[in-house]
Amino acid sequence: MTAEVVVLGAGYAGMMAAIRLARRAGARARVTLVNESPYFVERIRLHQLAAGHTPRRRPLSSLLRKTQVRLRVGRVAAIEPRARQIQVEAAGTLGFDFLVYALGSGRRDASIEGLAEHAYDVAAEDSANALRQRLIALPKGARVSVIGAGLTGLELAAEIAEARPGLRVTLLASSELGDGLSPAGKVAVQTALAELGVEVRSQARVAAVGRSALELTHGEALASDVSVWCGGLSASPLARQMGLPVAPSGQLALDDLLRVPSVPQIFGAGDGVGITGVSAPGLRMACATAMPLGAHAADNVLRAIAGEPLEPFRFAYWMRCISLGRKRGLIQRVSGTDEPLEKVVSGRLGAKLKESVCRFTLTALAIERVFPGTYSWPGKGSTAAAAEATIA
Ligand SMILES: Cc1cc2nc3c(=O)[nH]c(=O)nc-3n(C[C@H](O)[C@H](O)[C@H](O)COP(=O)(O)OP(=O)(O)OC[C@H]3O[C@@H](n4cnc5c(N)ncnc54)[C@H](O)[C@@H]3O)c2cc1C
Repeated sequence: MTAEVVVLGAGYAGMMAAIRLARRAGARARVTLVNESPYFVERIRLHQLAAGHTPRRRPLSSLLRKTQVRLRVGRVAAIEPRARQIQVEAAGTLGFDFLVYALGSGRRDASIEGLAEHAYDVAAEDSANALRQRLIALPKGARVSVIGAGLTGLELAAEIAEARPGLRVTLLASSELGDGLSPAGKVAVQTALAELGVEVRSQARVAAVGRSALELTHGEALASDVSVWCGGLSASPLARQMGLPVAPSGQLALDDLLRVPSVPQIFGAGDGVGITGVSAPGLRMACATAMPLGAHAADNVLRAIAGEPLEPFRFAYWMRCISLGRKRGLIQRVSGTDEPLEKVVSGRLGAKLKESVCRFTLTALAIERVFPGTYSWPGKGSTAAAAEATIA
């Protein structure tokens, strides 16, 4: 019998899951991938898009060729677990035996006055494009404030400063610059931002965002022609809206088999899911976790179809990669649990390595298409005991 498998979301997690499943399953499964856009959005390059670069747009149909994955373009409006069906706007109803939920994430807002109305972001292609248009229209000397100095904020501030040296870019960090980096990593980031002319404000918490100014919590006002919110990502709200079990973060709550315990036909991967279990604690929303999760979800769906025992997801971090414009970058080695180690690679070599990592995401999908099941990741083969020891 052929199982009907539906994968929701064609981001890094969903693409990996759909291709690996379809190519490994052969006649055992029919895989349908649903996505709101016919294009693959390289989210890890959206700061580049905003700054004026033009990353190549790839049709999903070409990335999926010769995989037997059936593509449905449309917005997923409803998931009906009991009826085992999905409602897709303008594309009707799809039945499933197994579902992989990979709807990703969007901008995470905060309760800051004026943020929703006045702050741009780079969490999605549309919003990154809106920022791009606004930046193009800015005259020399205009002020751009990037609020939030996590990885995305760092990348965006550097990218804008390099692409538009005439603009005055300020990066506002709510604590210190370079949280999560080693001392050498912090120095590398500080040096790169200084060379690019980015003004860094530490301990700068924003209380209000206006059309042409920001107010900090201690009352100081900052002129800001364009303010960009880089305050993190928030899981797709669909799981919560559908009454599926969610973690406090709003992510679909999965066990470490990447399955909803109370609805064992539903698996998940990527930013939209949160996992309990010792083998993969506290995964951060990242392409670096989304692809392994997608691959493992595919493998467990295949096991479920075959009536075999499922395997827990295991993962170890290896590095953080940050682009600081096109000529500078930082590769920060981290422990399996994401603690920064002393080893870093920075400067031009760091930029080249980061670019290779970005390219590898698409290469991995292409390799999986030709040699299904070959994509692997750090920590995959570790035992539960080793995982627990690493966490302790
Ligand atoms: C500017 C920027 C830079 C980043 N840089 C890095 C980096 O260097 N390294 C790293 O590891 N991570 C990085 N990230 C994070 C990374 O992009 C995400 O963690 C990653 O995209 C998650 O993959 P995903 O497949 O879970 O979700 P997504 O890539 O968000 O894919 C979800 C897909 O589902 C679709 N979708 C959503 N809702 C619906 C619906 N209702 N119906 C139909 N389709 C829907 C979306 O259109 C999308 O195609 C960056 C993020 C940003 C914004």
